[in-house]
Amino acid sequence: MTAFDFLPVSREDMRARDWYYYDFLIVTGDAYVDHPSFGTAVIGRVLEADGYRVAILAQPRWKDTRDFEAMGAPRYAVLINAGNLDSMVAHYTAAKKRRSEDFYSPGKKAGRRPDRAVTVYSKLARQAFPDVPVIIGGLEASLRRFAHYDYWADRVMPPILADSGADLLVYGMGEKATREIARRLARKEPIASITDVRGTAFMSESRDKCRFEAVECPSFEDVSADKRRYAEACMIQYDEHDPVRGRAVIQKCMGKYLIVNPPQPPLTTEEFDRVSALPYQRAPHPMYEKEGGVPAISEVQFSIIHNRGCFGACHFCALAFHQGRMVTSRSHESVLREAEMLTKHPDFKGYIHDVGGPTANFRRPSCPGQLKNGMCRGRSCLAPTPCLRLDVDHTDYLKLLRKIAALPGVKKVFIRSGIRFDYLMLDKSGEFFADLVKNHISGQLKVAPEHCVDEVLELMGKPRHEVYVRFEEKFKRLNERYGKRQYLVPYLISGHPGSTLHDAVRLAEYLNRRGVQPEQVQDFYPTPGTISTCMYYTGLDPRTMEPVYVARDPLEKAMQRALLQWKKPENRELVLRALKETTGGLNRLRKALPDPPGCAGARKGLFAEDAERLRPQCKKRPEGARRSGRKGQKNQPAQGAEKITQKGRHGAALFAAIFE
Ligand code: SF4
Repeated sequence: MTAFDFLPVSREDMRARDWYYYDFLIVTGDAYVDHPSFGTAVIGRVLEADGYRVAILAQPRWKDTRDFEAMGAPRYAVLINAGNLDSMVAHYTAAKKRRSEDFYSPGKKAGRRPDRAVTVYSKLARQAFPDVPVIIGGLEASLRRFAHYDYWADRVMPPILADSGADLLVYGMGEKATREIARRLARKEPIASITDVRGTAFMSESRDKCRFEAVECPSFEDVSADKRRYAEACMIQYDEHDPVRGRAVIQKCMGKYLIVNPPQPPLTTEEFDRVSALPYQRAPHPMYEKEGGVPAISEVQFSIIHNRGCFGACHFCALAFHQGRMVTSRSHESVLREAEMLTKHPDFKGYIHDVGGPTANFRRPSCPGQLKNGMCRGRSCLAPTPCLRLDVDHTDYLKLLRKIAALPGVKKVFIRSGIRFDYLMLDKSGEFFADLVKNHISGQLKVAPEHCVDEVLELMGKPRHEVYVRFEEKFKRLNERYGKRQYLVPYLISGHPGSTLHDAVRLAEYLNRRGVQPEQVQDFYPTPGTISTCMYYTGLDPRTMEPVYVARDPLEKAMQRALLQWKKPENRELVLRALKETTGGLNRLRKALPDPPGCAGARKGLFAEDAERLRPQCKKRPEGARRSGRKGQKNQPAQGAEKITQKGRHGAALFAAIFE
């Protein structure tokens, strides 16, 4: 594999191809990895297949325009994305601390792209090539297409088109829109007249420029000044994000109009197959070898994406607002061709690491009606309870997995993408679940119950906890039946809107009862464009406009997070502080517990030291907020661990476990 097998990244590469001009420059915040999991590679190869000359500028320096000018001006447009992640998520943790590593950069080196990369690159591209259209896309542009709350700046920011000064924005999965724009630019159509492409957005002096039936949502100024208006805007934007029945959404902003056209329909199976079959090298560009390659490739090198879209629609996930809720999938033949190709790779050891996508076990639309009518407005297909029209069937996925497993050279086919366990449990045949346990787990299955308190789960867009409990039990039974020693790795979120400290204690107690100590815990991260982020910012559930409790205080967030890993010695102080907060005092808890023989002194000593340090500092829940129906819990007399738990005063069992 040589540099010649990749799209050109320098003038030398262009000369080697006898190119004296080129058509599109793709600027990206990630290293250039020619793999179908990377948007830059997909758009680059799609345009190449249509006969355009495409060059890649990966992680350019951003102090001046030199890197942008190095290959000269493209004929038709500069296409800009921040990379596979929003640049702020790539750079900062949920606690807003700078990350030290970057898996999308050579040698994991951080600092290779600017914060808010789309805006920075757009301005540089405009400066370098004033007459060339600038088009933005990818996750960062897509999820910031409307005025949005920015967690890092802690304020509402204008639509990214207004900040970046780009001409056009492509949102969602951009193949169809990009191809149409490319065709029209190649026909010399001015970028200002390309206002009628689905899946794009632009700024205009007049709302009359909108070519689709449209609805207006509250303006940037309104949503900045009024949280209720923000929540209203969020719901309009989500409701209209539908390729069948969605209308354009107009948002006034600083005297202009943002016009977001309705979404593109998802790729058909044939189109998806075609995109997947393009000549990706499935590797980072060789220019990164001396720096140790690009680590992000290792996650995907022997994995296959078989679907797109997700009707799970968890509220903390932006996928529904990017890829959409309508699931489409590749044909068996297309997936098998890719699997066969993997078996020929020199590093292939016989294991396909994943046949997945946003949710591994979705391969078809949620119901036949959605193809005609679109996704239901204001109704989720799965949560909190499944829709009666939901079409549950794993037969096709199962067949596909079996065919891949039967290929010469394949020893095992694993599923590492998330499985939607509530959908799995609705499958009456049980065949897929059995096959999953028998053949497709490499010791541990990652699942995402996220919490155990139903009110919190409802706000997350997740199924009720009892569904997970039934799933867990069945998983255990199947493992016993097939003589397997496999484990569930539950993914959990602390501090999601709606989760109080009491809820976090209940979750910690649940984990304690189940003997689970999660390795990884994600503190809720208010990333741009999600319904949960709207709840975090506004303190309202945008679906109902009811108030929602939000843990914003860093100390409370830290306590909620620590509770999920309460056994870690470094979390002990925070856990005890949380118990003190939620039970009306550790002394009461301590008195409620029998002293184990011979260690009363030791416990007392430990406790006295802890109690001395702990001070309640949690913010009070706002008046009327949900998840606050536990009035009178504080300062109630504790009369024994069991009784405390029975009364809903959670924490006693956890406290006992800490001192065991
Ligand atoms: S009818 Fe039910 S399954 Fe179909 S789109 Fe609506 S909520 Fe989803």
